[in-house]
Amino acid sequence: MNTPDTSEIASSAALDSDHGSVRFSFENTYARLPEHFYSRVNPTPVAAPRLIKVNVALARGLGLDPTALASEQGVEILAGNRVAARSEPLALAYAGHQFGYFVPQLGDGRANLLGELMGTDGVRYDIQLKGSGPTPFSRRGDGRAALGPVLREYIVSEAMAALGVPTTRALAAVTTGEQVRREAFFPGAVLTRVAASHLRVGTFQYFAATGDVEAVRILADYAIARHYSAAAESKQPYRALLDGVISRHAHLVAQWMLLGFIHGVMNTDNSSISGETLDYGPCAFMEAYDPQMVFSSIDHQGRYSYGNQPRIDLWNLTRLAETLLPVLEQETGSKEAALASANEALAAFAPQFEASQAAGLRKKLGLLTERDGDLELAQDLLRRMAANRADFTLTFRRLCDAAASADGDDGVRKLFSDPAAYDAWVVGWRRRLEDESDSAETRADVMRRANPAYIPRNHIVEAVIEAAVGQENFQPFEELLEVVSHPYEERPGLERYATPASPDERVLQTFCGT
Ligand code: AMP
Ligand code: MG
Repeated sequence: MNTPDTSEIASSAALDSDHGSVRFSFENTYARLPEHFYSRVNPTPVAAPRLIKVNVALARGLGLDPTALASEQGVEILAGNRVAARSEPLALAYAGHQFGYFVPQLGDGRANLLGELMGTDGVRYDIQLKGSGPTPFSRRGDGRAALGPVLREYIVSEAMAALGVPTTRALAAVTTGEQVRREAFFPGAVLTRVAASHLRVGTFQYFAATGDVEAVRILADYAIARHYSAAAESKQPYRALLDGVISRHAHLVAQWMLLGFIHGVMNTDNSSISGETLDYGPCAFMEAYDPQMVFSSIDHQGRYSYGNQPRIDLWNLTRLAETLLPVLEQETGSKEAALASANEALAAFAPQFEASQAAGLRKKLGLLTERDGDLELAQDLLRRMAANRADFTLTFRRLCDAAASADGDDGVRKLFSDPAAYDAWVVGWRRRLEDESDSAETRADVMRRANPAYIPRNHIVEAVIEAAVGQENFQPFEELLEVVSHPYEERPGLERYATPASPDERVLQTFCGT
């Protein structure tokens, strides 16, 4: 759901004490699927749940009363201490390639799907608790989540939604009053996640790996009904499903690239079928532009580096295509035809990704018409940014001012270690802008809607987490969330949020924290 409006409730204390009950109109279509698709398991109650935040706009978009959600009874549900009427909690089964190695059984080891709600937009959404205790899929883990990663997911997923990127959302976060053991002990927390669904490439792999073709077919039919309804009308619905997933992913990854977003752990179990950004772990937005950038502490080979993301996404989609071969065979009549069909579908990824990226780059540069050489102009700027460690977000944002008037050039050139590198580029850009018919102001406005002023910068996210974990101070969290919820709207007084980290503030590594 892309409602960037995020007026939110800060804490339960700020609300009227509400004794009206919170009502979820849960439906449970996933629970109607065969029993080996999931395990029925309730969340494990926690010692002392306390509300951190309810996302008011999102709650309303799901037909929920935000005040009731923030009530004592609401918080008990959000913490997993009470199961809402009509909820049938499930842990979903899935497999996945983690860093290229196949694990036949992963599954929700610390999450419960509570049920599905119909949004006011007519879309069905999963409501999931993350960090809600062990399940039969937990194996070694404790089933819990630490406060830091919960806040990170809340902030970054809401920022992505406000930036217009398909993503899961954060409906609420609570602390548990319990400690979780990681490198040290940290406060525990539970995130309520909203997703178009939690179907992953890894869900298909789970069944395909055991040769359970019937389950793959049921899952594919479910995915079509839920996310790709037009595919049902196609002569080859499974091919149409594959085409649809590939297309959404090509556009999704293009958007990541255009914002400098690094997912960090694009395992196939974190690769959604709906085409949403899923599972915010060691994710980060890069500052200095560097195609090889990696933040995740466990990504030693750079498999999930910024520049590798399109390639890895296609690798993941290839794994999806493999799982669909048996149903494609039923559809096409032979093994050879199924393979040809899958390959044809996969071949469409690159051109779609490239077209989406090119269109986005053109917009970032204020080029509203299409000319030969546009892409080279953009690539030339990116090369110069990389060589001069220019901040990705701020360079493009300041370029909006430079589009309005050449007086803006000074602000951009300062971001390059050698400002002459920008001077040499800007001449060509200005010449190209002469082909455009709109006014400089219109162009700058369009650019300001493509180039955010505010992204969740790593050092600020870290500071937010530190204040919350170390001092139970959630004010910095509130403030950052408010800022990144209006990323394109530059406001005085918020300069700190638009400014890259100074060398001593720089955060170069992020951790899964699971
Ligand atoms: P993730 O890194 O969050 O994508 O998780 C990968 C797999 O590890 C999933 O099957 C999770 O359910 C599982 N997992 C992650 N953290 C925990 C935990 N604290 N307890 C149990 N399972 C976990
Ligand atoms: Mg995951």
